Amino acid sequence: MNFFDFGQRDIAIDLGTSNILVISKDSGIILKEPSILALNQKNMSIVATGKKAQDLLDKTPDTLKMIRPFRDGVIADYKYTLYLLKDVIKKAGKQFSFRKPRVLVGVPVKVTEIECMAIEEVLIQAGASEVLIIYEPVASAIGLGLDVLKPEGNAILDIGGGRTQFGVVSLGSVVSGSAIKVGGNYFNQKIIEYLKKRLNFGINISVAEDLKIDLGCATPLVAELITQIRGIDTATGVPKNITVTSKDIKRAMEKPLELIMESVIYALSNTPPELLSDILKNGIYIVGGGALIRNIDNLVFGVTGIKTYIADEPFDTVILGMQKIINNLEMYKDILM
Ligand code: ADP
Ligand code: MG
Repeated sequence: MNFFDFGQRDIAIDLGTSNILVISKDSGIILKEPSILALNQKNMSIVATGKKAQDLLDKTPDTLKMIRPFRDGVIADYKYTLYLLKDVIKKAGKQFSFRKPRVLVGVPVKVTEIECMAIEEVLIQAGASEVLIIYEPVASAIGLGLDVLKPEGNAILDIGGGRTQFGVVSLGSVVSGSAIKVGGNYFNQKIIEYLKKRLNFGINISVAEDLKIDLGCATPLVAELITQIRGIDTATGVPKNITVTSKDIKRAMEKPLELIMESVIYALSNTPPELLSDILKNGIYIVGGGALIRNIDNLVFGVTGIKTYIADEPFDTVILGMQKIINNLEMYKDILM
């Protein structure tokens, strides 16, 4: 097959720490599932992957163990990653009639060469005929409709489930950036800790996730939000209901937000002045699920003084950018890693 002959046999995969997305050249998103596996607690055999695994974990969490193989942004466990990717490629392949697709995959800022090689290797093992690699912030910028091939700086802040990355993109490459293991999962952990410490109240991860989505904010809200939740009084062990406000959740989320802002400032301080002045003009774009935290744009603007935009489809920006790449490979060939 000719390099530019990107036919029906080609797909792009976004291997997120929380979600896996797959797209082909001219389809909509053909697969969007949690990047998890459910294992049997007793014998550690794989019971289910993706959505099925999530459903099982919601219903019978005690008998199962949840594995997120890309939790730390890279391949944490080869065996489970391979199993998950085989499944993903098989599911994606069902919609078409191809056997071995060529796969474009995104990698985070600060990925090492060894990590890239591992991703390539596992995708080949999982059924890819060939692997093409792009930096995620570059794919995001393309997804946002920015012209990444110009010698002009654009800044992307991607707040995912297990990781936050910030990348200054110019001439199709990441010029400066940062990546930290702080994201949605850490926000949930901090919400659990806060309620336990301040209110002697015990909740599980799914309640924390709901609180983050329903009340989470990065700066104070004009109209405070309030909700009732059920959990355990940790002093007595008795179940009860309490009222939680957006002020509580904002306080709980302060530490991870601070770490994210530190990493942005660090990366900006390592950005060449001419690109920094482009970013002052063009702004910072926020993508990933964390872009939905209320007032996250206000926080970024408040700390950096740079105007900030939230992506329209923060979960899909990376994969939509990758679709544009597989559709215009001739144009983008030089920016693949
Ligand atoms: P990844 O690319 O790492 O898979 P995503 O960009 O898919 O991550 O984002 C997933 C994260 O976004 C999860 O941690 C999820 O809890 C979080 N998230 C989803 N919706 C919201 C919301 N409304 N507010 C804050 N965080 C959210
Ligand atoms: Mg992502």
